[in-house]
Amino acid sequence: MSKWATQFRDSRWQQKRLEIMQRDEWMCQSCYDSGEGVTLNVHHTYYEKGRAPWEYENDSLITLCESCHKAVTEATRSISRSIGRISPDHLDAITSIIDAICKTAKNGPYGIENVAEEEQLAFGRAIWEGAARLSIAAFEARKAGAA
Ligand SMILES: [Zn+2]
Repeated sequence: MSKWATQFRDSRWQQKRLEIMQRDEWMCQSCYDSGEGVTLNVHHTYYEKGRAPWEYENDSLITLCESCHKAVTEATRSISRSIGRISPDHLDAITSIIDAICKTAKNGPYGIENVAEEEQLAFGRAIWEGAARLSIAAFEARKAGAA
């Protein structure tokens, strides 16, 4: 068994996992499935090399059912591959868009709870401004390339 797989059997992870599932009321935080027959996983919203599974802040961990966990993991990998293709010049704009999206989400680890409406509008504006900055940068890059 790999070191990584062994770590998921560690009692420190087992304890952390139960703590997160209890916080999330034994319910998938994406589709809200729960009860018998639903296998719940605790999802790491990010990983860092050299960090044990239990060495993450609680707000970076979330309870998901097996099928949502699989979908989220796949989608995150795909986004990560796309981010790798973004020019370093555009990373600032991308970061501001991602921050704004995270803040518009209403629940738990996926965002701020009970965000005021004006704040949500401000986040929405930040998303559009980030997107506008990106398309302007792409236009200027094309113009510069054509010159
Ligand atoms: Zn689910």
